[in-house]
Amino acid sequence: MNKIKDKLNRPIKDLRISVMDTCNYRCPYCMPADKFDENYQFLKKEERLGFLEIEKLVKIFANFGVNKIRLTGGEPLLRRNLDRLIKYLKNIEGIDDIALTTNGQLLQKQLPKLIDAGLDRINISLDTIDEDLYYQMSGNRGQLQVVLDAIDAASASSLKSVKLNCVVQKGVNDHQILPLLERYQDTNVVVRFIEFMDVGTKNDWQKSKVIDFKEIIKIIESKWQIEPLSANYIGEVAERYRYKNHAGEIGFISSISKPFCQTCSRARISADGKLYTCLFAHTEHDLKKLIRSSNNDKELEATIQNIWQNRDDRYSEIRHELTGNKDKIEMYVIGG
Ligand code: SAM
Ligand code: SF4
Ligand code: SF4
Repeated sequence: MNKIKDKLNRPIKDLRISVMDTCNYRCPYCMPADKFDENYQFLKKEERLGFLEIEKLVKIFANFGVNKIRLTGGEPLLRRNLDRLIKYLKNIEGIDDIALTTNGQLLQKQLPKLIDAGLDRINISLDTIDEDLYYQMSGNRGQLQVVLDAIDAASASSLKSVKLNCVVQKGVNDHQILPLLERYQDTNVVVRFIEFMDVGTKNDWQKSKVIDFKEIIKIIESKWQIEPLSANYIGEVAERYRYKNHAGEIGFISSISKPFCQTCSRARISADGKLYTCLFAHTEHDLKKLIRSSNNDKELEATIQNIWQNRDDRYSEIRHELTGNKDKIEMYVIGG
């Protein structure tokens, strides 16, 4: 293994791979329906990386120190035979954790074969448990009960962890913080609250819609007592809390109010094989072109090494100093 570090001395450990750019939802904070309509040009099948190409890349990344893979999208469960990819990746030396982020709509039927293939952990997005609001927040596509049933199935399965991602927006779903927690209190399902982020340029992000984690904690403490837990590992994105009088854990991902760039060891690959070294990147590196144009793996390896060793991203720490980020990558392209 040839472990590499970036310019800020951060290793590369975590690779997030978008396997699908399209989605069966149109969440307004990610893929607003008016901008992602029937005329929107998503990738053609042949433009997406194939499973063998993904496998090839992951082998290289594993050699540089990556041990965790997260499959995401768009909606990753729209990708056919995803279990086959999981099986390939699970067999790669050095990869010891495979996770999936999904909206959960297509999960229940696929869950057993994903687990059989080696899936370790799952994150399911759930912004509300109000049926009408859920439908609205999915861009009039999602059925809440289907997702709740899938969460129950995941919770009862052998997965190592089941976490829910709730993006909180002021005046939209902040009244759902307590009901969501109440539903999953005393279970093994961790509810995580994510600050609404200024990813991409299409989601009409406004600072006034962000509700920061301190406000969320205040809302929670109006009903239950909670206390912080120490991080599981260096570079953990979520800050963890537990109830004092109940079982269960709560997480906070506070990219806006409490950036965590100092320990960021994540790289992201889009469905068409572009490498991004930051969620807010406006530079991309086309790995697919290299994979498809040459049989020379050494060149691919050297390119990836060079990109990481020259990385100095820390967008969340310096966002207040930046103006006019017109070219930021959209969340659906790199999957959070
Ligand atoms: N479709 C899958 C899903 O929704 O779980 C995976 C891809 S989605 C882009 C990954 C995560 O990004 C989801 O949990 C979603 O809620 C989150 N997300 C999307 N747009 C966001 C934004 N503007 N701010 C914060 N989180 C966002
Ligand atoms: Fe689709 Fe996930 Fe984006 Fe919602 S957040 S539109 S489910 S990719
Ligand atoms: Fe990592 Fe970029 Fe997010 Fe900072 S802003 S934590 S560098 S992805």
